[in-house]
Amino acid sequence: MQVYAIDEKELLFAAEAVKGKNYSCPECRGVVRLRRGEQRQPHFFHLKLNPSCRLSKKGMIHLQLQIFIKNLFELAEMEKPFPEIGRIADVADVVNKRIFEIQFSPMSLDEAKARCDDYEGLGYQVIWILHDQTYNQKQISPSERFLRTKTCYFSNMDVRGKGVIYDQFEQIRGKRRWRKADPLPVDLRGLQPLPKAKWPVVVEQRGQTWPLYCEGDLFDLILKEKFSFIKQKFNLVIRLREFYLTCLHELLARSSR
Ligand SMILES: [Zn+2]
Repeated sequence: MQVYAIDEKELLFAAEAVKGKNYSCPECRGVVRLRRGEQRQPHFFHLKLNPSCRLSKKGMIHLQLQIFIKNLFELAEMEKPFPEIGRIADVADVVNKRIFEIQFSPMSLDEAKARCDDYEGLGYQVIWILHDQTYNQKQISPSERFLRTKTCYFSNMDVRGKGVIYDQFEQIRGKRRWRKADPLPVDLRGLQPLPKAKWPVVVEQRGQTWPLYCEGDLFDLILKEKFSFIKQKFNLVIRLREFYLTCLHELLARSSR
């Protein structure tokens, strides 16, 4: 589903469309129609699902995130076509040359790299928002590992648009995420170039590759000297959990004797 369709060669926003009329999809040119209801955002859906069309595969959560990000920036555009690379960006901030890409479903490493290369080739920086439904799980896919080397956050937004975009303090070993702390909501309006610095070990790796950071993320907290509090809280939770598990094991061992 999507919020733009083509009506007589012009892009038309869903809120301005009429029910029952055939429009065409800007990506695959398939037939799309308007759907609207009290509880949901007006949007277009494909009459026939087209697995090769990215717009056709988007769900309501994807759409909610797109609208949320678009509303943060006065001049940002949703589903902005870039014909020179054959792509349609989820949200584009053309003034600041930034693309916001939302990823809800699994993606191959090749596709992740290609999308970054294409937009970066046009002089844009891509900010990735990975949804909890697929990402930020214990097992980390090759594409997630790659995207986390770019400016990349997570989101827990639901179908009604409730939730946040967030960063987190985490411990990763190999392909596994061992521990993660509570979500740290970020404000994308405060995106700015990441200063070159000798970053502490917790963000040392991403400190070498992230082009941008924003208000509320780990870099911001470190720069504002608020990070040690989060780390202490995180370590306390880990210690309490380990203490609880040790007690539980002890009790189980005693009851089986
Ligand atoms: Zn399509």
